[in-house]
Amino acid sequence: TVQPMIHAGADKVIVVDSIDSKAFCDETVAATLGKLIENHKPEIVLAGATARGRSFFPRVAAALECGLIGSCAEVDVDESGSLRAKRPGFGGNFIATVECPDSRPQMATIRPKVLTAAKGDASRTGDVVCESGVETDSRKEILSVTSSDSDTVQIADADFIVTGGRGVKGPEGFELLKKLAKALDGAVGASRAAVDAGWIPYDHQVGQTGQTVRPRVYIACGVSGQIQHLVGMRSSDFIIAVNKDREAPIMEIADIAIVGDLFDVVPALIAGLA
Ligand code: FAD
Repeated sequence: TVQPMIHAGADKVIVVDSIDSKAFCDETVAATLGKLIENHKPEIVLAGATARGRSFFPRVAAALECGLIGSCAEVDVDESGSLRAKRPGFGGNFIATVECPDSRPQMATIRPKVLTAAKGDASRTGDVVCESGVETDSRKEILSVTSSDSDTVQIADADFIVTGGRGVKGPEGFELLKKLAKALDGAVGASRAAVDAGWIPYDHQVGQTGQTVRPRVYIACGVSGQIQHLVGMRSSDFIIAVNKDREAPIMEIADIAIVGDLFDVVPALIAGLA
């Protein structure tokens, strides 16, 4: 796992193998990263805005009395070496560019899948150093680790995602979308409206308060395409939208916009794939 990091651009990789990644403990990881930051004094420290990253990274920032730019959708570094991070603000109604001019290191969490993975150069070389972790007295004890039940592929990893919105009209509509997802060996996504209605569990939600996804093909069925949904899927390689309303915002960003009733279009797509 170290070599791909060097091939992707790292000059130095610090390995702390005393940390058990299965029995993940925020306190231990935060204390260890805090010590590494104090020793190595990096200018910028980034982590994924995953469940784990969102949990341990703020502890590090608080301990070091640094700012933290959370859940960024885009990051850049200007000529002076300052991190410029973009994140949605006020319910996704605007995208704010945030900087940390005073505190060091500059710290940010980045939503998974919003950045394209570096191509990698197998001829690159770099240093690998091993350092020890910091022992902490955690008040938590991990008794067991259980994966969430899911009969379909997880949306974060899927190449094909078939997403349903309010237009799907109920849990039965999602059964139809599951058939299309299955035919594509993909996963089923959902808008917040569909999740809030109780038609499908939250771990399928795409968007600002759900997951950010970047599949090869994203098929949005009966989803209007409000900004809070778009921030979670607009980096998909290819977007197909099925909507009765040709003026729906999702149709603007779609590579193929199918104007029609999803209950006619989706069965036709399934039949076409059979
Ligand atoms: P609607 O906007 O009601 O759209 C339904 C669409 O279905 C319409 O375009 C309609 O033309 C079409 N339709 C209806 N019947 C059919 C049919 N038979 N065939 C084809 N098309 C049909 N939303 C998210 O999705 N994800 C988030 O993470 C998220 N986070 C949010 C965070 C905040 C702070 C706030 C304020 C909102 C958030 N939202 C989020 C909600 C978001 O603003 C929208 O309300 C939501 O995305 C709308 O869902 P929808 O497109 O399914 O429903």
